[in-house]
Amino acid sequence: MIDTGYKNEFDGSNLKPGEVVITFDDGPNPHLTPQVHKTISDLKIPAAFFFEVGENVELYPGQTKALATEGFIIGNHSYSHPDFVKLSNGDLTDQIDRTQKIITDTLGGPLEANRLFQKWFSAIFPYPKQVVAPEFFRSPYGSRNKRTMALVEKHFYHVMWNIDSLDWNDHSPATIEDRVFDQLTTEGRHGLFSCTTFILRL
Ligand SMILES: [Zn+2]
Repeated sequence: MIDTGYKNEFDGSNLKPGEVVITFDDGPNPHLTPQVHKTISDLKIPAAFFFEVGENVELYPGQTKALATEGFIIGNHSYSHPDFVKLSNGDLTDQIDRTQKIITDTLGGPLEANRLFQKWFSAIFPYPKQVVAPEFFRSPYGSRNKRTMALVEKHFYHVMWNIDSLDWNDHSPATIEDRVFDQLTTEGRHGLFSCTTFILRL
């Protein structure tokens, strides 16, 4: 399990047995995001987190809007996916704020963002009341330390994972499935797992 020594961080290890949260990172992508969107809609998966990269939202805002409109949760995943530990505080803040503005503008304002979260996810996840929409952030590569998290946790709930699909390094659906279900069994059949939208093959 990944260490969660940060106060506003969630990694799925405290979910109840049978509760699984799916997250997709690094989109939107013009080809893959619609496939992911259609699949989770067809399967009636009630909520998924999409941690989006600001420069991709600028290019494909329609994808972000379509997901949020249907109630899927949009999270901030930086502007250009750098390793935050290597950035200055100024650059780090710029990566977060720029993306926050792009996502919020794309979704039509803070109140329009993440309506599903506002409706019922907030009853399940403990979260600080001062967080702003989009309420969720994921550090690129999960790379973080006390300095970077001090800035992130001012405004966001930080979402890590305890199940790793490793699909960025393995494009075989069968072995990805085996790995995810093996880890879910090890973790007691609950968890929060991470996929990379760019290379996910459904
Ligand atoms: Zn990423």
